[in-house]
Amino acid sequence: MELLETRPAPVAGVPAPVVGWRLWLVRGDRLCSWMADAEWRPGMNEASCLADRPQPCRSVPGAGCWCGWWALWSPSRCWVLAGRRHLLWRAPVMGLMAGWGVVALHGGKGFRAERASVLALFDSPLGGARPQLERLANRYGVPALSLRAALEAGVLAEFGASPGAIAEVRAVLAAVTDRPGRRG
Ligand SMILES: [Zn+2]
Repeated sequence: MELLETRPAPVAGVPAPVVGWRLWLVRGDRLCSWMADAEWRPGMNEASCLADRPQPCRSVPGAGCWCGWWALWSPSRCWVLAGRRHLLWRAPVMGLMAGWGVVALHGGKGFRAERASVLALFDSPLGGARPQLERLANRYGVPALSLRAALEAGVLAEFGASPGAIAEVRAVLAAVTDRPGRRG
């Protein structure tokens, strides 16, 4: 992954959030990052550099580092990640996050942000632990949404998901609906 650009918020004090997709691990009623040992709080989360080296980045996200709150542009990439063995057994939860402050853009993959908050949590297209999702959503003060309902109601666009990401969600849900033995 290549760091293409690091840009500050356009206007100090009036941050313009960037919206992306990500996975969280669930520990009790807490959402945690899966790439780093970091717990997410309700509301704003401020990143620090967790790099294992003598001099952590002074400002986060640091150039050439991995620090910051990560998000991907593509929900499909999240699903692919969620299906990998090291994550699959930990049943990650997918959702949207807003990132702001200093944001490092990673080309077509996603971004790392200095500050971030959870925007919404989604059920798995294949079904899943709905009570757990609602408990988490209550704690974080965000909606727990059926991805299909969110798509059909236009909620994804309201949250700032890109048209390309919304098209991906539509395609995945259509594929799930078309599976033999499954209803949409
Ligand atoms: Zn760093």
